[in-house]
Amino acid sequence: MPFLATEDVGTTVRRKLTPSRRLAVWERTGGRCVVCEAPIDGIRERWIAEHIRALELGGADDLSNMGPAHEICALAKTRDDHRRTARAKRQKIRHIGAEASKRPLPFGRASPWKRTLSGRVVPR
Ligand SMILES: [Zn+2]
Repeated sequence: MPFLATEDVGTTVRRKLTPSRRLAVWERTGGRCVVCEAPIDGIRERWIAEHIRALELGGADDLSNMGPAHEICALAKTRDDHRRTARAKRQKIRHIGAEASKRPLPFGRASPWKRTLSGRVVPR
């Protein structure tokens, strides 16, 4: 896995998608799906304006981060994005200490018992 610079990501606020913005999204790739790179038939196939880097993963809500995608392709990508977001949230919760471990180390700081230097076990 390549090294990625760590930065705090939060969910970006989603702006309203007007028809003219939707057209601009389509024109950005000339109607090619940003997921599978196949051309999209705008009349026969359902397509959505996809955020290439998901908003919930800190992606920007502007044209540089958007492109058209088949609805089917976008659903698969969204499922993967949700999985990655959930993982990132779990990591962040652990990292900032927002939740104590469910399995604290025996006699660790979260344990109700402690072992003294002489080896006796006493309540903390
Ligand atoms: Zn596609």
